[in-house]
Amino acid sequence: MSQSSSPAIEKEVNQFMSGLISRNPGEPEFHQAVHEVAGSLMPFVLEHDHYYKANILERMTEPDRIVIFRVCWEDDQGNIRTNRAWRVQFNNSIGPYKGGIRFHSSVNQSILKFLGFEQTFKNSLTGLPMGGAKGGSNFNPKGKSDREVMRFCQSLMVELYRHIGEDTDVPAGDIGVGAREVSYLFGQYKRLANRYVGVLTGKGLSFGGSLVRKEATGYGCVYFAENMLNHAGDTVKDKTIAISGSGNVATYAAEKALQFGGKVVTLSDSGGFVHDPDGLDWEKLDFLKDLKEVRRGRISEYADKYKKATYHKGERPWSVPVDIALPCATQNELNGDEAKTLIKNGLIAVSEGANMPSDTDAVNAFLAAKTLFAPGKAANAGGVAVSGLEQSQNSLRLAWSHNEVDSRLQAIMHEIHGKCVEYGTQGDWVNYVDGANVGGFVKVADSMLAYGIV
Ligand code: NDP
Repeated sequence: MSQSSSPAIEKEVNQFMSGLISRNPGEPEFHQAVHEVAGSLMPFVLEHDHYYKANILERMTEPDRIVIFRVCWEDDQGNIRTNRAWRVQFNNSIGPYKGGIRFHSSVNQSILKFLGFEQTFKNSLTGLPMGGAKGGSNFNPKGKSDREVMRFCQSLMVELYRHIGEDTDVPAGDIGVGAREVSYLFGQYKRLANRYVGVLTGKGLSFGGSLVRKEATGYGCVYFAENMLNHAGDTVKDKTIAISGSGNVATYAAEKALQFGGKVVTLSDSGGFVHDPDGLDWEKLDFLKDLKEVRRGRISEYADKYKKATYHKGERPWSVPVDIALPCATQNELNGDEAKTLIKNGLIAVSEGANMPSDTDAVNAFLAAKTLFAPGKAANAGGVAVSGLEQSQNSLRLAWSHNEVDSRLQAIMHEIHGKCVEYGTQGDWVNYVDGANVGGFVKVADSMLAYGIV
């Protein structure tokens, strides 16, 4: 809920939410994501009557369409396996649908709707012409052989290919979908459609991928933290940093934090977290990349190798005293009590690399303490921004240099920060939640109004 909210606004939000919940039963993550956005937007929408009269919030919370389909595949033992897959095409008002594909056993419609909804605002914030979407499957890639993952990806694409296209919907990776999976998916699309176009992003460099795409979300998350700290007269340099996760976003957030002179003392996975009081260095980072990207190992192996590091099974890293928290694993991985512990231990800033990692209580605690708190839709927009740049390079049939892409990424993160400051400044503090929500909303809402009743 916005810090500037009044009882009248809260009443409007509650009324709106009760309608949304009754239209979308059993979808708690979707309710949570919409509630956060509605809390920020309601004062703005009430102030700007044309949005209110057009019923824009209700229209923006209804996806354009959802495609649900069966994916059958054969495992290495010859058993026939069945999974379910979705593509939630949420809103294409400002450009073709764009958003990742997630493979994880927890995937369901609620999670994909929350992600598609957030993606619409995030993509708008980048300033690039991209609508919002998300997709995925309850397929669990852990422990599967390369061939099993390949057969699953190929089978999924047999249905998905008719719903995507370079001017329609351009998926990318997310949890469980990295370079290997994007390659299998793109290879199968090309066979089915007989077209070589930029229909997926996150592709390999030899077949249309962009430099810096792999690093973009993690780098962007740290660029955003640096922007927030600079705005408050501070910097990432010499700060102690807790990172959760050890996948794509966490790894490259750690790399950029190191480049900026920060001290990264934690990493995690779904099994637990490691605490390294000496902090990561370049050799340890190389070990992490090999462990996660090549060997697909567990983060506990970090503590086996580096004896000063400790492994905390089944725990999350938020009890470690730090200046900056970068939650980079998954949704709702940081709760209200953990947020209060971080604040008590001297936390200055949070930049969310993951989508909705802080639950509602945690967000409220950060806002009440006036922490510099960047929600995922702003802080992790670097990934989709470079995906947008990958699309541009594919259309132009050329490849930009590392420096060219990285400087564009930095400029986009700076501009997103500027939009948050424009819409979120409240006295001597910036409410980045309100700033990101309103900043992402205006362009999408104005386009929808321009199209008439759609
Ligand atoms: P990866 O699959 O590469 O890594 C995910 C990491 O999070 C792994 O370390 C994984 O551990 C951990 N994790 C997953 N589920 C849980 C859980 N339930 N509890 C604890 N840890 C968990 O995914 P990404 O790094 O790509 O994505 C991470 C987050 O960033 C997601 O929220 C994603 O939506 C978001 N994001 C990603 C973008 C991208 O470009 N990749 C763009 C924008 C946002 P384990 O191996 O044990 O499962």
